[in-house]
Amino acid sequence: MKMTLMGTGTSHGVPVIACSCEVCKSTDEHDKRLRCCALLEHEGKKFLIDVGPDFRTQALKFNLCSLDAVFITHSHADHLHGIDDLRIFSHKNSAAMCKDSVIKSKYPETSGEGLPVYTSERTKGYIHERFPYIFVDHEKGGGIPKLNLIGMDSNSSENPLNLCGLKVVPIPMLHGNHHTIGFVFTSTGSDGSPHSIAYLTDCNFISEESLAEVKKAGGQIEHLVIDALREREHSSHCNFLQAMGYAEQIGARHTWFTHLTHDKKHGQIQSYINDHLAEFPNLSQIVKNGGSVSPSYDGLILQA
Ligand SMILES: [Zn+2]
Ligand SMILES: [Zn+2]
Ligand SMILES: [Zn+2]
Repeated sequence: MKMTLMGTGTSHGVPVIACSCEVCKSTDEHDKRLRCCALLEHEGKKFLIDVGPDFRTQALKFNLCSLDAVFITHSHADHLHGIDDLRIFSHKNSAAMCKDSVIKSKYPETSGEGLPVYTSERTKGYIHERFPYIFVDHEKGGGIPKLNLIGMDSNSSENPLNLCGLKVVPIPMLHGNHHTIGFVFTSTGSDGSPHSIAYLTDCNFISEESLAEVKKAGGQIEHLVIDALREREHSSHCNFLQAMGYAEQIGARHTWFTHLTHDKKHGQIQSYINDHLAEFPNLSQIVKNGGSVSPSYDGLILQA
């Protein structure tokens, strides 16, 4: 299983339009962050996580030629408003995934037409409201994406979604007043044991139950990608120390901050993490044993 982080920036991206701060003027490629988006590849299948306004740019930059399914964390514009650009993928080869007998038997409403888009029932409702033109009867002609929205509310560590051997568990989280879901993806590694990647954005509160779900989802958590907006507190995003607090409890081998804003350069974020690591005994031990806690960046590839 391989995850490519195609975007690691906050809602307006970095650099921010019309901003001339040191971070936005930085020439370090690590400081150029598109909106949050990730690509997960497993056994030749490609799964997208979130489809924000930079999706077209990301698809071209990372040479994306096919998609088998999409996962959506929540309905905020920076995670959703590239949905129209799924058109090319939904018309090209989405049927292959829908014909999968696992999907068909699990979700009998799947017609075999349209790219599967997995999200919470709540977010499904928002997508219908916000993009009605996608779902109403229309003239044929290929001008709109053909999507099959599938709710994940019945999935959990006890009942994971199974996509061609990849297990997916949704993790309910709070993002200010907004409900979001993170995901834990688990596959069987070359050693025969399960390995996971946890992708948790956007959030500023993860309940004990949800933290337990992350750990129960399966096997060694190789990578945790977690919302960590900035040093200062925020009403709907984890700041750096909150993210480290959750990482301390989750205990992944590698923790990566995402959804980063333009308050600090990439190198300054790493220095901040290093300066505060001693406050987190579990993370300190993980780092001593060869693990890491770092800011992510666009193009980062995670293997598990
Ligand atoms: Zn966001
Ligand atoms: Zn700036
Ligand atoms: Zn959000």
